[in-house]
Amino acid sequence: MTLVGDAAHLMSPFAGEGANLALIDGADLAREIDVETALSRYEKMMFARGAKSAAASQRGLDMMFVKGPPRKLILFFKAMGVAAKVAKPFARIPASGKGE
Ligand SMILES: Cc1cc2nc3c(=O)[nH]c(=O)nc-3n(C[C@H](O)[C@H](O)[C@H](O)COP(=O)(O)OP(=O)(O)OC[C@H]3O[C@@H](n4cnc5c(N)ncnc54)[C@H](O)[C@@H]3O)c2cc1C
Repeated sequence: MTLVGDAAHLMSPFAGEGANLALIDGADLAREIDVETALSRYEKMMFARGAKSAAASQRGLDMMFVKGPPRKLILFFKAMGVAAKVAKPFARIPASGKGE
C-alpha cells in the first residue's frame, strides 16, 4: 500500500502546491508500476488454476452428453455408490482423530 497527494504529505494551502504535487505523485506512481509484468504474472497463475477446472468440466460434459445410453455416467454414479459404502464405517470418526 502507498499514499499520494495530501494523504502522503498534508500541508496548508498557502504554498499553492498541493494539487500539483498530488497530480505529479499519481503520474510518477503510474510510471513506476509495471502493469505488463503484474498482468502476466496474474494471468499465468489464473489460467493454470482455471485450466484444471475447465478440463474437469469438459470431462463431465463428455460424460453427460453422448449418443445412446450414458454408460460412463452410470459407471461414475455406481463408483460413487461403492465409495460411499466403503467410507460409511468411517463416517462417525471425527477428522481430528480425537473422541467426540
Ligand atoms: C482552501 C484551499 C485552497 C487551496 N489552493 C490550492 C492551490 O491554489 N493550488 C494547489 O496546488 N493546491 C491548493 N490546495 C490544496 C489542494 O486542494 C490539495 O492539495 C489537493 O486537492 C490534494 O489532492 P488529493 O487528491 O491528494 O486529495 P483530495 O483532493 O482531498 O481528494 C481526496 C478525495 O478522496 C475522497 N475520500 C476521502 N475519504 C474517502 C473514503 N473513505 N472513501 C472514498 N473516498 C474518500 C474525498 O472525498 C476526496 O474526493 C488548496 C486547498 C485548500 C483547502
